[in-house]
Amino acid sequence: MQPSELIPERFRDGAQRMAAALRGVDRVVVAAHVNPDGDAVGAMAAAGHILRALDREFFLYVTPRVPQDLSFLPLPGTAHTTLERLPFTPRWALLLDCGEPRRLGQELADRLPELESLNIDHHLGGDGMGSAGNWVEPQAAATAQLMAYVALAAGLPLEGGLATAVTLGLVTDTGGFRHGNTSADVLRLAAHLVEKGSDLAGVREKLDSNWSQARMHLWGELMRRAELRRGGTVAFCPVRLDDLRATGALKEDLEGFVEQLRQLRGVRAAALLREDAPGCCKFSLRSCGTVDVRAAAAALDGGGHRNAAGGTLRMGMPEAEETLLNALARELDSEGL
Ligand code: 5GP
Ligand code: MN
Repeated sequence: MQPSELIPERFRDGAQRMAAALRGVDRVVVAAHVNPDGDAVGAMAAAGHILRALDREFFLYVTPRVPQDLSFLPLPGTAHTTLERLPFTPRWALLLDCGEPRRLGQELADRLPELESLNIDHHLGGDGMGSAGNWVEPQAAATAQLMAYVALAAGLPLEGGLATAVTLGLVTDTGGFRHGNTSADVLRLAAHLVEKGSDLAGVREKLDSNWSQARMHLWGELMRRAELRRGGTVAFCPVRLDDLRATGALKEDLEGFVEQLRQLRGVRAAALLREDAPGCCKFSLRSCGTVDVRAAAAALDGGGHRNAAGGTLRMGMPEAEETLLNALARELDSEGL
């Protein structure tokens, strides 16, 4: 099999379009969504490797920073956490895994009108975000998967740092090849990466065996607190600012916790509600199979995917809890569950 044959038929046109577009850009700021996860950082790093191979000038922009547990990924350049003091004045922006303009972060959102932009994503929505081109594929498991296809369409081998970056994105957004988005295409791509020497087990090891004691204590506390609601069909857990303070854990230590809630028998949807500041709460929703938590998140002005979605509620914890659980109940009711 030729490496380019790894690009599924339905993604071929988009991959070629983006590969051609990337040859035409220069002085590019490469950015993903705020508070980046493994797919956001992986897709950004992959884009950097591609742009470097194409001899384009770029810098990576991450806000507020690369989370500590993803810092093992070697990046193809400095990750700038602000758009002040840049190596050059950007003319282009490459937006990755963002979902919607609000998730770019204020600094870049403010600068975006001055820039030509390309947008590559696997979230529903945000389709018109790139002024010079969009490739949005909700059928893709990860934005890093799409970046692998862009690389292949550009004739670049999936090796070295590029392969590791794609591997990280795939592992993160498929929950270690367990979620419903783990398609045959994803597995074929992962097999190719492993064949080319990508250290899949090493990436898993770095992600899984990198916990602080504070994180362990926080998870222990939250597991004890997890509640069943709506006759056992919804699992819910609130996290207050004081919980982080008490354990010394960071916000990013909550990454992955909501998946634990989904493991409870009989649960169709899991909800984590985190107090970010007084009067401002972030929610994370997860489901299995056909249960659509994106619809519940969208009703609250959030977004994401059918089985993983999130958003922000500008209200205090008690009101946010009621609002979130009502939206979830409405969605489950409408699905007859
Ligand atoms: P998480 O719960 O892990 O933060 O996010 C789960 C999914 O929902 C991800 O695909 C993420 O991009 C999306 N998501 C989380 N928060 C928001 C939000 O505020 N707005 C939108 N549109 N999507 C979100
Ligand atoms: Mn993603």
